[in-house]
Amino acid sequence: MTRIRWFGTNWKMNKSPQTAREWTTAVGTYMAEMPADQRLFVMPPYPLLPQILQDTKGTGLIVGAQNCHWVTSGAFTGEVSPQLLKEIGAHNVLLGHAERRKQFGETDEMIGRKASAALRVGLGVVLCIGEDASIKDDPATTRSFLEKQLSIALGDIPALAPEQLVVAYEPVWAIGVGADPPAVYEVAEQLRVIRHVVDQIVNEHVPIVYGGSVTLENGPSLLTETVADGLFIGRHALDPAMFIRIIQTA
Ligand code: PGA
Repeated sequence: MTRIRWFGTNWKMNKSPQTAREWTTAVGTYMAEMPADQRLFVMPPYPLLPQILQDTKGTGLIVGAQNCHWVTSGAFTGEVSPQLLKEIGAHNVLLGHAERRKQFGETDEMIGRKASAALRVGLGVVLCIGEDASIKDDPATTRSFLEKQLSIALGDIPALAPEQLVVAYEPVWAIGVGADPPAVYEVAEQLRVIRHVVDQIVNEHVPIVYGGSVTLENGPSLLTETVADGLFIGRHALDPAMFIRIIQTA
């Protein structure tokens, strides 16, 4: 069976309609010649979703939101339902990102509800998990922490369609400007643990991607020297030329 390789990016609170269009145009050109075993996904801020869905129609680019609520509608000011995302044509949604957990108080239970709701309306889910610096050097604690995040987030999910769920291992200590760039040996074992746990919980083959300070330099080894099925790239994928170079080099 061909091993599908996933390359995704979360724009966080970045980009304008104009710079988004420049990005999708450049990535669209790459995708026209892209190998069939690659999947590319992007998570723009909510207001850019319709534009990007329209501009990239037919290219195969998977376009998703950075968050959603778990209820269908109601008095939840500032929130967006998975139903609405599905109705406007979004393909997937990012859940459990470390910034949402830390800055917006999202718990494993909330993320589990969101995952269940999003999958049930037919959206794909990219589920982020990862330990922080305080436990990173304690393998047993890290292992049980990741197991707990996974088992709660995936505790109530429906039967999955192929490629509907992707797990992103994003150690909190490796994310963002000023973070420690990850060494392969530091994340390889955790990726194996996650592979094992996910295989026990879910029947489908669920791709696992690595995210956190992925660069042109470390991308290839993070992909080829671990069990990761892909890379989830933050700041280094805001420039479409760099995103494409990382994919081509990996
Ligand atoms: P980074 O972001 O690549 O800029 O570290 C990764 C992420 O938050 O997904």
